[in-house]
Amino acid sequence: ADSLKKRKIVVLGSRSVGKSSLVRQFIENHFDESYHPTIESTLHKTLKYHGVEFDCEIIDTAGQDEYSILGSKHTIGIHGYVLVYSVTSRNSFNMIQIIHDKILDFCGTEDIPCVIVGSKTDLQSSRQIQPLEGEKLAQKNNAAWVETSAKNNINVSHVFDLCLAEIEKRSNRNFKV
Ligand code: GDP
Repeated sequence: ADSLKKRKIVVLGSRSVGKSSLVRQFIENHFDESYHPTIESTLHKTLKYHGVEFDCEIIDTAGQDEYSILGSKHTIGIHGYVLVYSVTSRNSFNMIQIIHDKILDFCGTEDIPCVIVGSKTDLQSSRQIQPLEGEKLAQKNNAAWVETSAKNNINVSHVFDLCLAEIEKRSNRNFKV
């Protein structure tokens, strides 16, 4: 396992958008209806992308708001970003651009390997954000985009495949990884 390439991915977004649920569904194949606020946890999984295995470290964060200061812990040494909003929350959607801008500011770059995730698609009747809005936001930020349901295990593993793809895409362009 020591020879595996390491990839560090951080999961950011407003509180209770389903970051932990996404990560837990991905790693433990488990969904929990009850809400347990996360402080921060780091999980590991070996992922295969284009025939190459990667040792992925996934950092599940407590959640951010407009006043959160994005520190070095969530930027330095990070290869890829998963930014999660809930399709049922306009506020959480608006937070994505704020967080994205903070990352660019902190890193001093114009482009980061990033997947924007619209979560909780099973809650159709409470939907506030249409797919097109999500897609447009992703396009604007040169990011990948996908909608998920951690509850129904829809597109969960796809998030991390897309993230590796975004990372590898840039590493082939001599982006430092
Ligand atoms: P976090 O604070 O962003 O890590 O959010 P959590 O993963 O703790 O989820 C917050 C709440 O939303 C919990 O009650 C979850 O059960 C619920 N939740 C998370 N993902 C989904 C989903 O895909 N569908 C539904 N219906 N509820 C979800």
